[in-house]
Amino acid sequence: MKIDIIGAGFSSLVASCFLSKEGFDVHVHEKHDLPGGRARNFKDKGFTFDMGPSWYWMPELIEKIFSDLGERLEDHIDLVRLDPSYKVFWKDLSSTELPANLNELCKTFDGLEPGGGDKLLKFLKDAEIKYQIGIDNFLEKPGLKISELLDKTAFKNFFKLDIFKSVEKDVSNRFDSHKARSILRFPVLFLGEMPNRIPSLYTLMNYADLKLGTWYPKGGMFKLAEALMNIAQSNGAKFHFNVNAQKFNCSDGRINEIVFDKKTVKSDYVIAGADYNFVEQNLIPPEYRRYNTAYWDKRKMAPSSLIWFLGINKKLGGLQHHNLFFDEDLIEHGKQIYDNPSWPDNPLFYTCMTSKTEPRVAPDGCENLFLLMPLAVGIKDNEAIREKYLKTMLQRIEKHTGEEVKDHIIYKKSYCINDFKKDYNSFKGNAYGLANTLFQTANLKPKISSKLKNLTFCGQLTVPGPGVPPALISGKIAAKLTKEKLKTNVI
Ligand SMILES: Cc1cc2nc3c(=O)[nH]c(=O)nc-3n(C[C@H](O)[C@H](O)[C@H](O)COP(=O)(O)OP(=O)(O)OC[C@H]3O[C@@H](n4cnc5c(N)ncnc54)[C@H](O)[C@@H]3O)c2cc1C
Repeated sequence: MKIDIIGAGFSSLVASCFLSKEGFDVHVHEKHDLPGGRARNFKDKGFTFDMGPSWYWMPELIEKIFSDLGERLEDHIDLVRLDPSYKVFWKDLSSTELPANLNELCKTFDGLEPGGGDKLLKFLKDAEIKYQIGIDNFLEKPGLKISELLDKTAFKNFFKLDIFKSVEKDVSNRFDSHKARSILRFPVLFLGEMPNRIPSLYTLMNYADLKLGTWYPKGGMFKLAEALMNIAQSNGAKFHFNVNAQKFNCSDGRINEIVFDKKTVKSDYVIAGADYNFVEQNLIPPEYRRYNTAYWDKRKMAPSSLIWFLGINKKLGGLQHHNLFFDEDLIEHGKQIYDNPSWPDNPLFYTCMTSKTEPRVAPDGCENLFLLMPLAVGIKDNEAIREKYLKTMLQRIEKHTGEEVKDHIIYKKSYCINDFKKDYNSFKGNAYGLANTLFQTANLKPKISSKLKNLTFCGQLTVPGPGVPPALISGKIAAKLTKEKLKTNVI
């Protein structure tokens, strides 16, 4: 039985590992010349840059994927726990480093507000409950039937998840200071909505952040993609790069052939790991689409991003591996992402410099500086605007660290909305998929199954959602569903 997988992002890679392990004849077809999708990397002039994810969180979930595949993560990836986990820069020109050690972290919170450490412990205890329930009862559910939420244990635990309370309410009820609140709201930025519109269930991300820690796979996030491809290949999966899927030829409710730019292949079963909206609205003939354009237009997308990859010809002592510039107002920036889509007046931004942890990713004495500014999807994007915001971000870095940066740039390259569309067929140029709002959670996400009998979706626009661990898990769910369908001949 031949299974064709469209795309080689994290979700597709995991699906390819599980299905090749089951003995299926797996073929992965990827538009680019390397695996990883949004987690690709590139090397230029001695600098190595991860192009997308840089926060390695929830290490145990990633470890579990490897052990389910009969592999040991440590045989493939050298993980380092970062300490401090990250550094936050504030408007008053002060900064806070978040230590990896929990006792030290509590002392840091005590410095932010009276009793901050004790409040943090209590908050993390509640977040841990949500994390455990979410992981044990909901994370690997395919989201196809309401009965999945009603099984005895899941139902019993459902109400402990606080899905009708927002993250904002939870955090501001417990903490008084702007700085503590900002640190605890931050993980929500990954989820693509404002903290007042994200269910408090997602404070489980705070548990992942502050208790489970921030890690770095040596060689960068791309190493994880490479490791998964190696596992799939050792199980017999074949990878075809630089091929662009253009349509499915279908009849009698089945895909018969996939038409690529350079070839047409016959297929028994297809897993679509390219962006869901693109596959649905472009590859599938109209009569087999589950959703129409009005449905897609109503989806709340997570943000896009403006990214700058910079090579700096000196060491930057004032920055850590991960840095958050929270010296402007999150709510105001958020409004210009979600409510009134426009380039922000006073953006928050993030910087990552993996050369701080692993000097070999930059030439001797240099740094690889990655700047990321969250941005509304679908707005105008051109070089002049990108340059304008580069200038703003550099000025703020210089102001906060007291170090000259702009005159030390020896390499620069930008990436933004137009690139997300061109490279990944990304809907409206989104970076992080679909926002995790209440009405786009679990069974309310675009379905992993299709009207076509021999097609399953995976990836960050379906269950369980955006981010590296969820994307990996979506590949596992898709592989399981496919295997069950093939074993019971329901295709
Ligand atoms: C800038 C950025 C920063 C991020 N930071 C983090 C982070 O720090 N931590 C975290 O957990 N998550 C982060 N994320 C999110 C995370 O990277 C994604 O959720 C995850 O990688 C998505 O994987 P995927 O398999 O769903 O999709 P993708 O990685 O997009 O894979 C889809 C693949 O399909 C291919 N494709 C598309 N169309 C076709 C076609 N027609 N034919 C063939 N192939 C096709 C694409 O080239 C791509 O390789 C970040 C994302 C971005 C963009």
